[in-house]
Amino acid sequence: MSASRGIFVPGRWPTQGRLYALQLCRADNRAAAGGKRCISLKSLFTPSPPSDAVHGSSTKRHRVLLKPNDLFHPLSKSPIKEMREKGILIQQHGCCATCVEETAKAGKPAATREPHFECPDCGYPTHCSEKHWGEDKSHGKELCGYLREANEDEHDLRSGRTLREFEFPSAQLPEIVVNLSNWDSFLYTRSFTNINSNRAMRHVSKVLTYPVTMGATIHQYSPFTLKNGLTPEGLKSMTALRTTIKEHDLARSEKELVMQQMPLRVFVLGARAEAMLPPHLYLQLAYLLPNSPIHVYFVGPECIPSADEARSTIVVSTRLVLKYHKSFFHDAIWNFAPFDPFTDVFFMFSPGIGHPKARGGWQPTVEKLLETKCAVFATGFHERDMQTDVRALNEDFGDKMDWLLEPRENPFASLKRDFGIRNLREWAISNWGIYGFRGKRYEVQSKQ
Ligand SMILES: [Zn+2]
Ligand SMILES: [Zn+2]
Repeated sequence: MSASRGIFVPGRWPTQGRLYALQLCRADNRAAAGGKRCISLKSLFTPSPPSDAVHGSSTKRHRVLLKPNDLFHPLSKSPIKEMREKGILIQQHGCCATCVEETAKAGKPAATREPHFECPDCGYPTHCSEKHWGEDKSHGKELCGYLREANEDEHDLRSGRTLREFEFPSAQLPEIVVNLSNWDSFLYTRSFTNINSNRAMRHVSKVLTYPVTMGATIHQYSPFTLKNGLTPEGLKSMTALRTTIKEHDLARSEKELVMQQMPLRVFVLGARAEAMLPPHLYLQLAYLLPNSPIHVYFVGPECIPSADEARSTIVVSTRLVLKYHKSFFHDAIWNFAPFDPFTDVFFMFSPGIGHPKARGGWQPTVEKLLETKCAVFATGFHERDMQTDVRALNEDFGDKMDWLLEPRENPFASLKRDFGIRNLREWAISNWGIYGFRGKRYEVQSKQ
């Protein structure tokens, strides 16, 4: 594989760090809206000053702090400052599952002592005391293993090693067809040769879940077919988009035709973390549709262009342009109208449409979306999150919309779990599930 891009070395941590911060903040803000959590985790992921490390004496920025066999550390004793701070935050704002259960059993309102006891197996402050830790049988069954994995993963990302798995392949050879069944087949057929462990896959899936979920949904070899969740209405919408992609393919050798092409417009609404991904990551979307000019519009009140980037338009390649609009879609709609179901598609990553405090805010946007008659795909953090959104859509807009993709697990979900500071029993997985819908009364007409 020829060119590779985007090597994440420790010196580039600010970008990556903010990305992770935002993803966690999203989960947190949403929950905060429901009155459960209200802490910004941004500070957790700003890079440590090099002199902070307790391992070794060198203050050189790029040195390796942790060896691959030395990734597990109880948070309070971690050599990484952010990890120690995370432990303190959990101790201050978290809860002890045994305390909560005991009060619930007694029919009292949930109460908890601060979780000062660190589980020796996962290193997280999980309970108020060793006694309560010992009494919580459910912790050891499943959760402890996931937390241990998260502990090692987070130390690995901050270990100072060069993260070779983030060296991504460039354009696909035309004779090799990409298999979009799942992560394994995608990474194999796209020649991601530097991913050689489950941990590396987890790291990479966490960022690639955005462009690859988009690409896999639109692509002619999408895993979503009539046998796998796509509805007949969904097929109509995807056929419209794929007709345009086919035209792009046919026109690839004709310079004049290329000049006249309408680009595919991919809108990402409520954009947060996905807007802050390093722009070159979206080349992985472009490589899946190699002959299509693609404009990705990130729209949302919390949409911030990629770190260190002041422009609102970034030309990533001759065929890929990223645009950033910091406003609500329904307020900014005239910047993008008119819409065409043959070229335009919408994505909303874990929007929380059904969350009580967010529901009213999303309604004017969804109303406008349905008017466009373009395909809309949305994701959820887990089954409950997704079903809450789907139920809200059905209740608020059921008679105005058609389902394109029945709610289901997304084969290109992140493989990583993010845990809530307030309750380590709650986790979120970016783009765990996916579903699609569109405004009613749309008919595909053949394009002249
Ligand atoms: Zn307790
Ligand atoms: Zn544990």
